[in-house]
Amino acid sequence: MKEALNLINESSPAVFYIMALLFGIAVGSFLNVCIYRIPKKESIVTVPSHCMSCGKKLHWYELIPVFSYLFLRGKCSGCKAKISPQYCIVELANGLLWALVFFVKGLQVDTILIQLLISALLVIAVIDARTKEIPFPIVIFIAVLGGIRVIFHHESWLDVILGPVVMAVLFLALIFFSNGRAMGGGDYKLCTAMGLFLGLKLCFLGLVIGCILGSIIHVARMIIKHVGRELAFGPYLAAGFAISALWGADIWGWYISKFFSF
Ligand SMILES: [Zn+2]
Repeated sequence: MKEALNLINESSPAVFYIMALLFGIAVGSFLNVCIYRIPKKESIVTVPSHCMSCGKKLHWYELIPVFSYLFLRGKCSGCKAKISPQYCIVELANGLLWALVFFVKGLQVDTILIQLLISALLVIAVIDARTKEIPFPIVIFIAVLGGIRVIFHHESWLDVILGPVVMAVLFLALIFFSNGRAMGGGDYKLCTAMGLFLGLKLCFLGLVIGCILGSIIHVARMIIKHVGRELAFGPYLAAGFAISALWGADIWGWYISKFFSF
């Protein structure tokens, strides 16, 4: 099986890119359901898909990711209410991210785990940007993925054990000494789950990248768009962790060789 897949991958890798893109778009459509329903505590499986304005149940041909949005020209077929382009953007973004993970990580089990991680981080980023809250069920999902990854793929036991422990202690201390102002509770729960998924080294790197992105982009947005000082840190944190999951080992190696080789 594995040899057959490798053979297809070597002769025509495009097949895998297209598959990653299409699966990613299909999963992106489920991510939209999570993004809209989790903050409202609605079920993500039992309630059939419906229009957010008039409640009209959607036909199968209105549920095809991206195409339905274009076909309906961004409007509900019942009440003509405008459908947010966010649906389409999340689907496409997830598809492109899944293809990117395949490009970076190639054909292996870890690729699927990182694709699922990045989808979960995408949901967290959008929900936090909209509601300033990091949904706990998604954090639990990341912790479960992290647990699976520890079994299949880890470089050192010490790193994966220290990851969640150090992150949890660090953030509890930070929250304690700042009387809860330093970071939201959701942020440190996410960091703890990511500590398990990435191990201490890469989790710390992701956190640093997230802080750098957050300070640069948020200050730019304060100047250009006059947004307030209060920032939803989730999207930056999610981006930092995604970058670390994809290129963290390379960045870490580069950093060490750059600064400690003289
Ligand atoms: Zn409608």
